[in-house]
Formats: sequence, structure tokens, C-alpha cells
Amino acid sequence: MPEYEAVIGLETHIQLNTTTKIFCACKADSWDDGPNTNICPVCTGMPGVLPVLNKAAVEKAVLLAAAMHADIQNLSFFDRKNYFYPDLPKGYQISQYDRSIARGGFMYLPLPEGARQVRIHKLHLEEDAGKTKNEFTSASGRRRLIDFNRCGVPLIEMVTGPDIHTADEAAAYLIRLRQLLRWLGVSEADMEKGHLRADANVSIRLKGSTVLNTKTEIKNVNSIEAVRSAIEKEIERQIREVEAGHSIKPWTLSWDDETQTLSKMRSKETEADYRYFREPDLLPVRLDDAWRAQILATLPELPLERRARFVQDYGLPAYDAEILTGERALSDYFEAAVKAYGGDPKTVSNWMMNDVLRMLNDRGLTATALNMTPAHLAEAIRLVDDKVINTSTGKALVPKVQDSGKSPKAIVEAEGLAKVSDEDAIRAIALQVLDASPAEVASYKAGKTTLMGWFVGQVMRQSRGKADPQTTRTLLEQLLQ
Ligand code: ZN
Ligand code: MN
Repeated sequence: MPEYEAVIGLETHIQLNTTTKIFCACKADSWDDGPNTNICPVCTGMPGVLPVLNKAAVEKAVLLAAAMHADIQNLSFFDRKNYFYPDLPKGYQISQYDRSIARGGFMYLPLPEGARQVRIHKLHLEEDAGKTKNEFTSASGRRRLIDFNRCGVPLIEMVTGPDIHTADEAAAYLIRLRQLLRWLGVSEADMEKGHLRADANVSIRLKGSTVLNTKTEIKNVNSIEAVRSAIEKEIERQIREVEAGHSIKPWTLSWDDETQTLSKMRSKETEADYRYFREPDLLPVRLDDAWRAQILATLPELPLERRARFVQDYGLPAYDAEILTGERALSDYFEAAVKAYGGDPKTVSNWMMNDVLRMLNDRGLTATALNMTPAHLAEAIRLVDDKVINTSTGKALVPKVQDSGKSPKAIVEAEGLAKVSDEDAIRAIALQVLDASPAEVASYKAGKTTLMGWFVGQVMRQSRGKADPQTTRTLLEQLLQ
């Protein structure tokens, strides 16, 4: 059987996290609001109204374009994309066509075989359309409801070049993109809430060939896992068709997450004619040098650069650096904690990966929700280093500091958690334990030495975790001889 390779293009729509919509003063994010609550004459296309461009949307677009290494344009235009659909009250979408805010660009995609540049074919600003919902009630039968809240929400449409070849790479691209969007602070990038939407174009060809064959488009995928599964299924289907001697039809397919299947939405025979023309109600976007410089001054160090620096400057393993740069706030936290601690950065990394991240994951939080300051973490580690408390007490401090906001030292004092390394105190507890467990003592003496762990555990429990485990073990061994 010949070997095939897939060519995948991802078309993403990214909801910018501006306070207001792109051309009016309505609230942009309606996730928690009822239908048709954040609308006005502008975003519902009433006659005689004029759109006014939201400066913040342009700034976020420029920031993203810079992070995608795109060529930011000093002059760009808005255009009308005309089509008829019930959720588009104006009868056109304000978008950018041939003179968009940025050209070209690429994103580095780290892959097992090395980083690959995924080229960006298109990056432009546009407004979102509304949402339609089908409803069936016994009283009114089938009806279609329209929610205009999303009309005029600022979007970036971004389309990749044909540089992605597997479902895993498509998923990896979206994971990186989501990380970057949150890192830049331009979008919440929550796929479940539609902040990041992805359609996938899929075609196959013989491995090594350079032709681009007929592609299909997959819509309705609202999680990265769904993108991966849908693309995998579609590649398999296309290979089966070609092997059976059939040709691939340019279908638009819809993914059903529940049944994990693709179904044909419509055949896409010809490209729709959107009759694009310049939006006459908006001025061209002029990005002068001063404004451009002001925006670019806010461009942070990007995740992959920071990851490389963590390996270089702190001597962290690549794995640690990858985890710690997963979120910008987390990587800032790490650097602040290293500074406060002053010791080996790898120690701080271990605490963060094992204890801080576990606590955040358990509670479904991200690093922005940390009450425990970097200085607190450094203090907890120091208390263990200085043998004031043992390691398990130190680890237990992490959620306590998070909940109380108190410093580790204050908690250790208030709860009397300081380690008992006083041998007489530990010996007294050990003797009590041995007295109370004659059967275990007998088995131990008869050769079941694995019971040592149990004895240590009993002493630790009686001392409420404060006994130094090493001292405890040594004392128990002496007493049992
Ligand atoms: Zn409005
Ligand atoms: Mn679009």
C-alpha cells in the first residue's frame, strides 16, 4: 500500500478580550448574559448608524501580529464581506480583505524532530456574527432563535499555510497558539466558550509529492481533542476513498463530538462570491511610528524564548522549563521565587512542579490565582533547608499559606509545627509505640524487618508529623536491638 501524507490548514477565529465590541460601546463578552442583552443600533445594523473603530482591538491585533513575526502594515483598510444569513443583520460582515493589518508571519511549532515554522497566510481583523439556535417546543413547533450578542465582537481571523501534516501537529499548533494568546493577554482563548474556534482543511497526497489535492473542510470542532480526532478520522476516510479508486469531493464536513463522527454539511462546489468592497463608513487604519512603538513596547518575552532562557540561565531540565513556561504568570512567579530564595533554582522548580502546581490543579486554578507569594514559597523552602520543619510539613504548608494568606513562619509558630529533633522527646514516643505493639515487636524480632516503616509511621503520627524521620528510625533501631 502506498504511503500517504496529509496536508492540513487551520483557519482560526480568535476572540479578542477587549472590554467593548469592535465598532460600538456594547460589552464584548456575553458568556454569562442572556440572549440579546448586549446589543445596540450599531451592532444590529440599524439604518443611519456609523461604526467607530475600537482602538484596543487594533492594539491587540498588532501585538499578536508581532508575536507571529508578521509584517505589520502602517496603512490598512476595512471591507464589507456581503452574504445573507439570519445572524448577520447588516447583510455584510465588516472584515479586512486585501489590505489587512498584517501580512505573512509564522509560528514556531516545537516538534519531536525539531522546531518547524508554520507559515501564516492570512491575519486580519473582523467582527463576529450572531448565533442561531434551533428549538423545538410542542406549542410552537420548530423555530429558529437568533442571539445578536456576538455581533460586532472583535475577532482575528488567522489562516495557516500547508505546513501541518498530522492530527497531532494540528493539536500541537492549537495548544501553542492558545498558550501564546493567553501569554500576550489578547484573548482568553477558551475553545469551549468559542474564544478560539478552528476549522480544518484536510487533503492527502502520496508521500513526497508536492501537489495539493482536493481538500475538505471540517467545521464545528470546539476542543483541541475534537480537532485531533476529527482530522484523524478524515485522513483515514480520504485514504480509504482513494484506495477504492474514488475521488475526493470538496465537501464541508461537520464533526459530532458525541458520536465522534463526521457528516457532510454541504458540498462546496464553488467559492461564494462575497462581493468585497471597501467599508465606506470607516477611515483607513493608520498606524504611525509612535503608536506602533508604543504597542510593541508592551510585547513580552515569548514563551519559547523564555523556555530557552530558563534552561540557559537557571540550568533547568527542558521538561521543567516547558512546564514552568506553560503560563506567563507561572513563569513570572518562578523567577520571583528563585530571586527570593537565592539558592538552587532546581529546588524552586521541584517545589513548584510537585506542590504548587498540584495544589492549583486540584483546585482547578491557574497561577494568576496564587495567594501564596513567591516570597512565601522561598520562606517555606528555607524552613525545610534549615531543618526547622521536615519536608512533609513544608509541603503541607503550601495549601495552608494559599488559604490563609499567612506567611509560612507564622503558620509554623501558630500551629507548633516546628520539627521535634530532640532525641529524648522522640525516644519517649517511640517507647510508647513499642509498648503498645507487642505483636509487631515480636514479628520484627523474628525477622520481619519491613515492619520498621510501620514503626516510623506510628511515631510520626503520634508526633503529628513533627518528628524528624531519620532520627526516629535510628532511635527505633537502637531500641529494638
Ligand atoms: Zn452594539
Ligand atoms: Mn472570518
